[in-house]
Amino acid sequence: MTIFARIIKGEIPCHKVYEDAHTIAFLDINPLSRGHTLVVPKEPAVTLDELSADSAAALGRALARVARAVRIATGTPEYNILQNNGSTAGQVVMHVHFHIIPRPANATGPGGPGLSVTWPARTLAKEDATTLATAIAAAAAK
Ligand code: AMP
Repeated sequence: MTIFARIIKGEIPCHKVYEDAHTIAFLDINPLSRGHTLVVPKEPAVTLDELSADSAAALGRALARVARAVRIATGTPEYNILQNNGSTAGQVVMHVHFHIIPRPANATGPGGPGLSVTWPARTLAKEDATTLATAIAAAAAK
């Protein structure tokens, strides 16, 4: 059982900021910035794509709601949303979760600078784009 499953069951304490029938949200124990919050579905899935449609919909609603609450409570209007799927992608806790990470204007402030991102972009390869888009579209339509 993951640590988040134990938090959902109430076996481990957390600094809870939101809960409904499908979702819970609490402060990250090692925040990148003040207000760093995790939004977690109660359904026990490892990656986002495994979630049921109902759970995913509830998670999306809660994510926007909690992001708004974090903005209001911290007074930091800008933020990143991060969601890691799989260990190579940086996932450590194997239970779906979204990070809401406020991005303070003052990166040297005491609460932490927020998320650092590298973005090693390439140009979309024309020869592959049509094949790729067709394959993804076919899978999305299922
Ligand atoms: P990820 O790398 O996306 O799996 O992130 C997992 C996050 O969970 C990290 O940011 C941790 O700091 C956070 N975390 C781990 N255990 C706890 C806990 N007991 N309470 C709150 N946050 C936690």
